[in-house]
Amino acid sequence: MKITFGELYHNNHTLQEYAQQIQLKASKYSHIIPPMTEISSVKALDARICHGMIICECPDCKGAEIVWLKELFFMCSSCFNARVHGKWRKVKIPKNLDLIIATLERRPVHLNRNWDSTETLDDLIKENEIHKDEIF
Ligand SMILES: [Zn+2]
Repeated sequence: MKITFGELYHNNHTLQEYAQQIQLKASKYSHIIPPMTEISSVKALDARICHGMIICECPDCKGAEIVWLKELFFMCSSCFNARVHGKWRKVKIPKNLDLIIATLERRPVHLNRNWDSTETLDDLIKENEIHKDEIF
């Protein structure tokens, strides 16, 4: 996958370090980000791939954050998960994520590397086939 700023950040930082950055932002509003042991019991959020980055979208304010695959938790850096009382949300990824990524990597233009949980691996393979003669 083409390296983007988000992926570089993802590869060089932990979710805990990211949480510290969010805390710095939240401190401007006198808000405290809870430890990652404080997890909301609401339904897990679906991860998706946007322009080659694995992200999760905030269902409340539509902000988006990078997903740390080893730590599937979400804290919105815009609304600080206010709707779930500031607790961390769980993130869900598909079991075949590696295959989805491999299929998207066949697309040379990283802006076309997109997937969401409504699409199957077969959908992506078919799209690759349909657009194989285009600059894709
Ligand atoms: Zn939000």
